[in-house]
Order: sequence, then structure tokens, then C-alpha cells
Amino acid sequence: MEDKIPVTQPFLPPREEYESFLADIWDRNWLTNNGPLVQELEGKLMNYLGVEELSLVSNGTIALQIAMKALDLQGEIITTPFSYVATTSSIVWENYTPVFVDIDPNTFNLDPQKIEEAITPQTSAIIATHVYGNPCDIESIQAIADRHGLKVIYDAAHCFGTKYKGQSIFNFGDISTCSFHATKLFHTVEGGAIVTDNPDLRQKINLMRNFGHDGLNNFTGVGINGKNSELHAAMGLVNLRYIDSVLAQRKELSKFYDHYLKDVDVSKPSIQSHAEYNFSYYPVLFNSEEQLTKVQARLTKANIQTRRYFYPLLSDLDYVDGKNATPVANRISKQILCLPFYHELSEKTIGKICKIIKSV
Ligand SMILES: *Cc1c(COP(=O)(O)O)cnc(C)c1O
Repeated sequence: MEDKIPVTQPFLPPREEYESFLADIWDRNWLTNNGPLVQELEGKLMNYLGVEELSLVSNGTIALQIAMKALDLQGEIITTPFSYVATTSSIVWENYTPVFVDIDPNTFNLDPQKIEEAITPQTSAIIATHVYGNPCDIESIQAIADRHGLKVIYDAAHCFGTKYKGQSIFNFGDISTCSFHATKLFHTVEGGAIVTDNPDLRQKINLMRNFGHDGLNNFTGVGINGKNSELHAAMGLVNLRYIDSVLAQRKELSKFYDHYLKDVDVSKPSIQSHAEYNFSYYPVLFNSEEQLTKVQARLTKANIQTRRYFYPLLSDLDYVDGKNATPVANRISKQILCLPFYHELSEKTIGKICKIIKSV
């Protein structure tokens, strides 16, 4: 039996490095509630990424929920059907109505040309995902938002390390959210972040993530529990030491895939110009769903795991409206397959995967 090749695998740093943080945590006996390691990680992330204000939270989904509340959104939110379920479920969970707009066939991101026809008097915001870490058409989206007085939130869960015009992609929109889940490129096991350049907004976010606690016996506004712990922050602090090598390694692996797939009839999303891409996934677009399922079946037989990501389309969820309203996204979600992609993957394995794809 050949070894199983997973579609993704969390990065794990040397265990001793993580353990050295545990001694201090035990000494302090301070496990959560905005502890010193949480604060240290926030500082290091702001510095590493070059962003103004960053709040660590317990995951990328609560990051989205807090972002919507912090911006006082109302009514309808324009969003993409081609993303992970949390982008839509968080909107519905907070009692807003998602309005789905189609995606660009080349970048797979929200198509700005289709946003304006979806705006109504009830629209309060645009929530767009930088799909696979590839920046949206930021300028066009911002121009539309400015024209109509809308807020912009970017679900930047895939974007750690991505830059646009020389700066972190998290610096665009009113708020960017990120996920630090174990399967993401940078992780704290579970975790996430809310990024803004507005210090007042960050203060509001920090109150919201901590029940609205303003001192011990005073509460300012309705809050939730979105805090993260010292143990999670310690994982982030160790992983941050390796992030540059993780990013460089993924770029190399991506080149191997490009090389071995060069005469195979599949395409990839086109990366936005002026972007420095983080290579967070390796998605390939087949010409038909039939071709995709054939390839996937052959890979599965060889114990190679792949993932139809994103499939199904979020507008097909049974708790939303908008089915069949986005033909481009509909087609792409049926033809897209993410291939195995993680730090420990070898060139040899990539060669083997591509040989099977070619043979089909
Ligand atoms: C992972 C992910 C999320 C959710 O993040 P969690 O930390 O798992 O809650 C949201 N949006 C996108 C696009 C994601 O990939």
C-alpha cells in the first residue's frame, strides 16, 4: 500500500521550540484573556505584515462576524458565491442577507462590473474573498463602494503573505479578516485576525471580542467571546519564525507543478497584476466536470487526495436565495480541483501526481 498523499498538511515547527514557550506559560499561570503572548504575536504580526491595527481572534469566522458588527452593517451584503462556506454562513448567522454577484472567469474573484446592478437601497457592504490568495480588483471595488457609500470587508483568509502594490493585501478595504486555522499557510492551530487602519475601530473590535468588557464591571456595547489563548499565540510565535521559508518553499513547489503540467490541458487563475502572490493553493481548472471527476477518481485510486474547493457554490446552500444567478461561478466551481500542496511535499511526488493527470 502506497503512502497516502493528503491535499494539505499543517506546518509543524520543531516541538522543542513550542515547548520552550510552555514553561513560561506555566510560570505565569496566565492562559488567556489578552495575555502577554497574544499581545506579542499581535505586535510581531503588525510589524511583519506592515499593517496598522491587528486584533487576534479565535478563528477566521468570528473575525468576519465581528467585522460586520463593528461596521454597523444593515440589510443586504453583496458577496461572492465562490468562497468557503464561512463567507456566507457568517453573513446569514448575523441576520444580514447575502446578495450573490458573479465572478471574473480569469481571477475567480468577484467581478466588479456586475456589482452595481446588484446594489439596492438596502445594500450596506461588499464582502469579497481574495480567492486562493489572489487579490481582488481592489481599485474598482473601492470606487463602487465610494460611489454608493458602502463598506468593504475582504475575507483574506487565504492571503497571509500576499502583497499588492508593495504592501500587505490586508491594508485594503475598511477591514480585512484572516484565518489562522491549522490548514492555512500561517497558523495558530485555531485562530484569526481582524485588520484595519483605524485605531477607533480596533478599540471597538477589541471590546467586541471580549464580551464588551470595559474594565471589570463595565460593559460597552454587546460583545461576544472572540478571544484567543496563550497556547495558540505561542504556536503563532514559533510558526512566524518559519514563515519566510514556508512562503519560499511553496513558490518552488508551485514551479514544479507548472513544469510537470505544462503540456496538460488545464488552466490556472490569472494572478492580479501588481500582486506578489503567496502560493497558498494549487488549483487547476479542467475543461469539463467529466474530465475533473475522471482525474480525481484516478488520483483517489492512487491514494492521492484532492479537493473540489470551492464546490458546491455558496448560492446553492439551502438557506440562501440566488441559485443559478451566477453562471461563471457555477461553471468554475464544477471544473476546479485543488491538488496536494503543503510544505513537506516533494518534487518526486508532484511528478507522480502530474504523470497520473497526464495519463487521463
Ligand atoms: C478558512 C476560511 C474561513 C474560516 O476560517 P476559520 O478560521 O476556519 O474559521 C473563512 N473564509 C475563507 C475563505 C476560508 O478559507
